[in-house]
Amino acid sequence: MINLRPVLQRIEKACEASGRNAESVGLLAVSKTFDAGAIRQAAALGQCRFGENYLQEARVKQTELADLPLEWHFIGPLQSNKTREIAEHFSWVHSVDRERIARRLHEARPAHLPPLNVCVQVNISGEASKSGCNPEQAQALCEFVCSQPGLKLRGLMAIPAATTDVARARASYERLAGLFNELKSQGMPLDTLSAGMSGDLELAIAHGATLVRVGSAIFGNRKTGTAHQ
Ligand SMILES: *Cc1c(COP(=O)(O)O)cnc(C)c1O
Repeated sequence: MINLRPVLQRIEKACEASGRNAESVGLLAVSKTFDAGAIRQAAALGQCRFGENYLQEARVKQTELADLPLEWHFIGPLQSNKTREIAEHFSWVHSVDRERIARRLHEARPAHLPPLNVCVQVNISGEASKSGCNPEQAQALCEFVCSQPGLKLRGLMAIPAATTDVARARASYERLAGLFNELKSQGMPLDTLSAGMSGDLELAIAHGATLVRVGSAIFGNRKTGTAHQ
């Protein structure tokens, strides 16, 4: 059972609640741990953008689904030794958090493909365990991405700390929106704010998210106890 429609309705409602145009927010279906069959079902319902966290897992599904015109987004932590394959097989990478990785993605992007769309990941809640650059480093990293012809800077990505404390969650999103707007006002060509997941997409949309990354609300709960949580 693919719950695409209820998620699209949540997005629509959230846009309405914050006076935004429904077309201003896109849905990235996060399919990690779910098989190619589930993605095929979601695609049959009209979903074409899919997010994956693990390269090997994604490559298996991409091969099985090569007959479909899907847009693949890499959203997981980036390791140097994976950059080549990611640059070859994805349209977007949301998790660029350091220059070295950006440079490698640029160098590996095949010349026959358009530049790789990049979001700079920001550690907006200051969690030691999370990937993402510090907010203070975001501008320099954005400028670096802009300087790499194999890359096209699109925006920021963040995973605010999971919390039941609404005020704290709101504060994270306010910081993120503030940073996004500040970078734009300094001339950064940013059109994408990648934020919001199954549990908090309304809050993200209220704070300007343009692309929400939703997994479990569409595909169901992921199995726990494996490396792929
Ligand atoms: C898994 C994941 C998601 C989706 O999370 P859900 O809570 O299942 O919607 C979104 N973004 C990233 C980076 C993820 O790893």
